[in-house]
Amino acid sequence: MKINKNFDNLVPNYLFAEVAKRTSDYTAANPDKKIIRLGIGDVTLPLAPVVIDAMKRGAEDLAHKESFKGYPDYEGYEFLRQAISDYYKSFGVSVSSDEIFVSDGAKSDCGNIGDIFSQDNTVLVTDPVYPVYVDSNIMAGRKIIYAASNRENGFAAMPDNSVKADIIYLCSPNNPTGSAYTADRLKAWVDYALKNDAVILYDSAYEAFITEALPRSIYAIEGARQCAIEMCSLSKTAGFTGTRCGYTVIPRELERDGHNIYKTWYRRQATKFNGVSWPVQCAAAAVFSEEGQRQIRENIAYYQENARIISSALDELGIYYTGGKNSPYIWLECPNGMESWEFFDYLLENAGVVGTPGEGFGENGKGYFRLTAFGDRESTVEAVERIKNLLK
Ligand code: PLP
Repeated sequence: MKINKNFDNLVPNYLFAEVAKRTSDYTAANPDKKIIRLGIGDVTLPLAPVVIDAMKRGAEDLAHKESFKGYPDYEGYEFLRQAISDYYKSFGVSVSSDEIFVSDGAKSDCGNIGDIFSQDNTVLVTDPVYPVYVDSNIMAGRKIIYAASNRENGFAAMPDNSVKADIIYLCSPNNPTGSAYTADRLKAWVDYALKNDAVILYDSAYEAFITEALPRSIYAIEGARQCAIEMCSLSKTAGFTGTRCGYTVIPRELERDGHNIYKTWYRRQATKFNGVSWPVQCAAAAVFSEEGQRQIRENIAYYQENARIISSALDELGIYYTGGKNSPYIWLECPNGMESWEFFDYLLENAGVVGTPGEGFGENGKGYFRLTAFGDRESTVEAVERIKNLLK
């Protein structure tokens, strides 16, 4: 018996464990100091009432013979796929319900999609990066190359025509940098993918946070249907981090290496995935109803206001940052030339505020720091006051 040795190539990720350790060491030594966490990547507001009602009704259906449901369709129920298709239409993008796969979230889809691609492909990720893209491809034994996101490109990496990639992960609005691609810059990636016969895996998990005139979907870009798969999630859009539901879009015409990608992914899902539960699909469909959209927008607006409060403090302090506007993440340059962990300790010890050191997301995160807008208002306001007093 042999284990998949590619797992030996994974670099242990100590980021969140180290954040937790340094924070608990500090609280143990300073029991009367109040710590505020602005590092959390999970939502804190409860699910919208209309979503809860739908989930309860879905659960009730399972209690009666006439309305009981067994295994769902592999690609999700048509009513939910149609609701997602209509949602795309609401921002001017045409995706048909039979190009959508409902799933248990974007993390699984980002990690699992590699099943349908050869190990020989070269994978490009932007750096700093959401670690799932890197680790899932290391597990598969693929070669990974990095495109630098940095101050010169506003922490939104651009393609380099001198390198050849086959699979490209893009995330916009980005975790961790909060940057979002403009249509022109996204078009450059689509052109690069078409020229290189590559496939873009586009993670739009934070599209609902976009406020400016920026693409909410890669399919807003001409040519994307011939080169892109899009993954989205209800986790941050509607607070589904614990409920679990997302979706992946594969245009019917997308072909590579003589294979239809939709059909190939369908075959993979039919083999390894048995769908999302009835109550959760009912709850997800409620997110896309008129009332659902109104209610989830209230929660998003709450987080957006937190992001605005954090960003305007950084504006006042004259600190360079990206994100905060079209994203719940604020990615800032550590002040006074501090390193990421140095700033982490400085902020914790002098302001009692916890964030996430940027270098945990890749080489280009060195000297940067991530704050998130998912906390409650009172704590966010207090944390920002403390940061202002410390750094002014
Ligand atoms: N994609 C990105 C960029 C994320 O930041 C996250 C969660 O933090 C996910 C995907 C995970 O989404 P899900 O909860 O749907 O698995």
